[in-house]
Amino acid sequence: MTAAPRELLLSRIRDVPDYPKPGVVFKDITPLLADPEAFGVLTDALARLCAAQGATKIVGLEARGFILGAPVAIRAGLGFIPVRKAGKLPGATLSQAYELEYGTAEIEVHAEDLAPGDRVMVIDDVLATGGTAGAAVELIRRGGADVAGIAVLMELGFLGGRARLEPALRGAPLEAL
Ligand code: AMP
Repeated sequence: MTAAPRELLLSRIRDVPDYPKPGVVFKDITPLLADPEAFGVLTDALARLCAAQGATKIVGLEARGFILGAPVAIRAGLGFIPVRKAGKLPGATLSQAYELEYGTAEIEVHAEDLAPGDRVMVIDDVLATGGTAGAAVELIRRGGADVAGIAVLMELGFLGGRARLEPALRGAPLEAL
């Protein structure tokens, strides 16, 4: 991404210190969503990444990955698959647990949404520890599909998510705009 659109996106991300708990700087993308020019620039950039990797489907991670992934799916002409927190999907699901700082979390996907031959791009707003995206990669593979890559707006590099994810990605790219 060239400097001007990058600056536009950066200018629409608000840092909220000590949210949701002391010591965390929350990256709030609601100003970006409220600006149609910035939201369009982001959607186009993510759609280009999907095309470059030959993706055939998009997985969005609850909840902000839904907001970003849905317009990207339409722009790229690809199907959208929601990966949700456990207990929210009504059909037969695949579930994947992953480690949090304290305890574990679990995400799910409808098993019927994934099939051999699919190339799936994972989309979210922020990559932090990489735990959520890593669990999504596992779900996609367990569904028989290939992982086209992970595309996020921001990567919090100091948390080491990229290094944690790289073995699981098996050469597929992790793109942070
Ligand atoms: P992780 O599994 O640690 O990579 O966390 C990623 C998920 O948590 C994403 O769905 C993000 O939306 C959210 N997240 C983690 N850290 C932040 C942060 N500092 N600001 C905004 N969202 C965050």
